[in-house]
Amino acid sequence: TFWQACLSRFEQELTPQQFNNWIKPLRFVSGPDFMRIEAPNRFIVQWVKDKFLSRFEEMGEAHFSRPIQLSLVVAENKEIKENKPLPVKSVPTPVARSGRSEKSGLNPSFTFANFVTGKANQLARAAALQVAENPGTAYNPLFVYGGVGLGKTHLIQAIGNYVQEQNSNAKISYLHAERYVSDVVRAYQHKAFDDFKRYYHSLDLLLIDDIQFFSGKARTQEEFFYAFNALIESKKQVIITCDTYPKQISGMEDRLISRFGWGLTVAIEPPELEMRVAILLKKAEMEGFHLDDDVAFFIAKQIRSNVRELEGALKKVIAYSRFTGHAIGLDLAKEALKDLLAVQNRQISIENIQKTVADYYKIKVAEMYSKKRSRNVARPRQVAMALAKELTHLSFPEIGDAFGGRDHTTVMYACRKIEELKISESGITRDISVLLQVLRS
Ligand code: ADP
Ligand code: MG
Repeated sequence: TFWQACLSRFEQELTPQQFNNWIKPLRFVSGPDFMRIEAPNRFIVQWVKDKFLSRFEEMGEAHFSRPIQLSLVVAENKEIKENKPLPVKSVPTPVARSGRSEKSGLNPSFTFANFVTGKANQLARAAALQVAENPGTAYNPLFVYGGVGLGKTHLIQAIGNYVQEQNSNAKISYLHAERYVSDVVRAYQHKAFDDFKRYYHSLDLLLIDDIQFFSGKARTQEEFFYAFNALIESKKQVIITCDTYPKQISGMEDRLISRFGWGLTVAIEPPELEMRVAILLKKAEMEGFHLDDDVAFFIAKQIRSNVRELEGALKKVIAYSRFTGHAIGLDLAKEALKDLLAVQNRQISIENIQKTVADYYKIKVAEMYSKKRSRNVARPRQVAMALAKELTHLSFPEIGDAFGGRDHTTVMYACRKIEELKISESGITRDISVLLQVLRS
């Protein structure tokens, strides 16, 4: 078939890593009058669009002997994707997975008791506890934001579990934003908005995780607006998480963004070293293992990104200890994490950064060190400088040299400028996260 032909072509044309990163995660969906490619997230959508879409279309033209049009979208939730018929009058209920309560969608293992606190999350935890003790009256909504793997889901589920424990009759619904989107689509398909409203507007506690997924989905936002108003008016608690603070969410209606700020907005920051150590000790203890401090410090120093990766590293060490039958010590930890650390510490060259950024913005690499100052060149150059500062150990003057002998103050200015733009222009934030992902892959 067409898709298989594309896959084998790309497999020949690309490096295995490129192929695995960008092509393999894609799915091809077609019908009598459409063809589209679905990607698991917007970074991949963006990258594939820029780099490979025209190639896909060329292959399509060769295959079907006529020009084809391919759209590229973020994959929706499974049910929609496979177009499964859905029960007509179904009241939406959250996904049931193992260890999860079918009704509320809560995972009982996320509690306050096993949430380690430190400077990075103490405000968020304090706010969460207040809300758990006074749902509907303390802060409404509670809006928790922070990067991936920092404990947002854990924390808000802890609130849900706490409320449920206090009041087993409370109607609670925890759901990922994508699930809410798919419920809206389903209600749409079956003209079942009355059921939809009856369900969502009658909850005592609604927890919506990763609300950035509402971005660009107008009907979902409209329905959520009604649900939000209904719940807040009747003093029912709404809790939301997001990867950025409200004003920075792109593709979200202003009236929602302003409502998100009605209650309390709190951040969860990346944990500092001592907190990472505390988390490791806690998780090891929960697994029935003892970690010496030197081992915990070693892991915590190496893994700085987020708690989820920290947990992953610990699991590796534990598995390695089980497998070899040796007790966990520093040497064993180093051995177990060898591969992980090799990948993490791989040096990224400034040439690689310049080339990748130039490709991304479709300018020539030479323009990175040319004297040109037009905006379409200057901005990518600033992005590349900021990335060089972040990803290499080079100093400002060394980076200046690598960009055609520019002064170190120019590089400093670029880094500051990009930081500012990250706040005011969501496009830059997206560009940079795509680029970081590409450069680190
Ligand atoms: P997020 O939703 O922000 O991406 P999660 O809540 O899914 O992050 O957290 C990722 C993992 O890290 C989970 O297993 C969670 O239990 C754990 N975790 C995060 N923060 C903490 C913390 N402060 N204490 C204990 N475990 C944590
Ligand atoms: Mg989460």
